[in-house]
Amino acid sequence: MSDVIIDSEEFRDAISTVDQRGKRVWVNPKKPKGRFTNYRTALSAVLLLLLFAGPFLRINGHPLMLINIPERKFILMGVFFGSQDTFLLTLSMITGIIFIALFTVIYGRLFCGWVCPQTIFMEQVFRRIEYWIEGDYTRQKALNKAPWNSEKIGKRLLKHVIFFLVSFLISNTFLAYIIGTDKLYKYITDGPFANIGVLAALLIFTGVFYFVFSYLREQVCIIVCPYGRMQGVLLDDKSVVVAYDHVRGEKRGNPKKNKNNEPLGDCIDCGQCVNVCPTGIDIRNGTQLECVGCTACIDACDDIMVKIKKPKGLVRYASMENIVQGKKFKLNARVIAYSSILVILVSVVTTLLLTRSPMRVAILRAPGSTYQTEPNGNISNIYTIKFSSRIFDDFTPEVRLLKPEGKLTLIGSMHELKGGDVGQATVLVTLEKEQIQGIKVPITLGVFKDNELIEESEITFFGPVNKP
Ligand code: SF4
Ligand code: SF4
Repeated sequence: MSDVIIDSEEFRDAISTVDQRGKRVWVNPKKPKGRFTNYRTALSAVLLLLLFAGPFLRINGHPLMLINIPERKFILMGVFFGSQDTFLLTLSMITGIIFIALFTVIYGRLFCGWVCPQTIFMEQVFRRIEYWIEGDYTRQKALNKAPWNSEKIGKRLLKHVIFFLVSFLISNTFLAYIIGTDKLYKYITDGPFANIGVLAALLIFTGVFYFVFSYLREQVCIIVCPYGRMQGVLLDDKSVVVAYDHVRGEKRGNPKKNKNNEPLGDCIDCGQCVNVCPTGIDIRNGTQLECVGCTACIDACDDIMVKIKKPKGLVRYASMENIVQGKKFKLNARVIAYSSILVILVSVVTTLLLTRSPMRVAILRAPGSTYQTEPNGNISNIYTIKFSSRIFDDFTPEVRLLKPEGKLTLIGSMHELKGGDVGQATVLVTLEKEQIQGIKVPITLGVFKDNELIEESEITFFGPVNKP
C-alpha cells in the first residue's frame, strides 16, 4: 500500500502511467461495479444507441444528424445549417466554450466521466471486450507477464481482431454522419475497390481509432485532450469533483494492523479506489489532472464502507470546501448564477437557431443602373437578388412584388436552388408613373417556395428627381 502523506505535492512531479525510467506503466484497472457504474452503463447504452442509430434516424425524410464538412452542409437534430450560417455557428461555438468553462467551474469533469465519447468507448466498449476475453485485472496482469504461449497468442489475437472490427464500425458510423447513409450504402454495394479513396480514408480512421483504444487509451485524457489540460485553471475549491474526504478518512490505516492503537480515520488503506482507476491514480492525493471523473473509485470505496459498516461516501462527489467544512453539496448563489447564465446562453442560441428564416435574401440594385423611363412614362428599376438557402430541399424560388402593386419581370430564368446553396436572379420592377411620389419609393419583394412566402424584404425604388 502506498504511504501517501496528505498535503504532499510530490505525486504531482510525475504521472502515474510513466515510471522513473520514462517507460509507460500499463494500467489494468479492476472491473468496477456499483451504483454509479450501473448508472453510467445505462447512460452509455443510450448514448451509444443514439450514436450508431443517428445516421439512420430521419426527420421529414432527412437525417437527424449530418456533418458534411466537404460540402459545408450540417444537420443537427433535423435543423439544416449551411455555409451561410457562419454567424450562428460562430455564436454557437463561443457559447459552447463559455458553457464548457462555466460548467467545469461548477461541476468539474462531469462531462468526461459520463458523456465523453472517449470514456464511453474506452470503458464501456473496449474495456468490456478486454474483461470478457482476458478476465479481470489480476488475470490481465498475469497474462501480460505470461510467455507467448498458445493461450496468450489466441486471446491477444481475438482481442485485437475484435478491437479492429469495432474501430471499423465506428469509422463507418462517422463516415455515415459525413456523407449520409444513402451514399455509404452505395459505396458498400459498389464494392471496396470502386471508391479506393473512400476505402483508404476509412482504413486510416479505423487505424486511428484502433490505435487510440488499444494502445493510447488513458493517455488521450491525460496528455492529448485540451479540455483535460484546462482543468488546472477551471477548477477551484468550490468545484464539485470526485473527491476523497480526507477529513473523515485520515489518518488512514488498517485497524487490524494498528498495534499502537492510534486514532484512525475511515480509510482502511485497502487500495481498492486505486485498483479500479482507469488512469492509475490515487484519488486520496486530491484532485488531479488525470482524474476523468469516472466514479469507479466512488463505487469501490462505497463497497468497502458497506463491508466495514461505515457510512458510504468517503469518496464522493464533493467540493474541497464541502469536505473541509463538513457540509453537503448545496445549491449556493454561485452555482445558481452560473447555471442561470448557462441556461440563458443555451436558450438564446436555441431561439436564434429555431427562429431563423429558411432563406437569406440580399437584394441589390444592379451595379451602375439607375431607373429607366419607359415610352409610356412608367419607371423601372433592375435588382439583383442573392439567395442563400437554409433548408435541405432543392427548390426553385419565386419572387413577387408584394407592395405596391406593379409589375415584376424576371430577366433570364430562375435556377433551381440546391439545399443549402446560394443562387441569384435578376428582376425588373416597373411602377406606373402615378405611383412615383418622390425620388425614393419603398417597395417590398417577397420570395416564395411552393406558393408559401418564406422571406420578404423592403427595398428602395428610385424615380426621377422631377415627378414624370
Ligand atoms: S480517481 Fe476515481 S473518478 Fe478519477 S479517474 Fe480514477 S477512478 Fe475515475
Ligand atoms: S477504497 Fe476507500 S477505504 Fe479503500 S483505500 Fe480507497 S478511500 Fe481508503
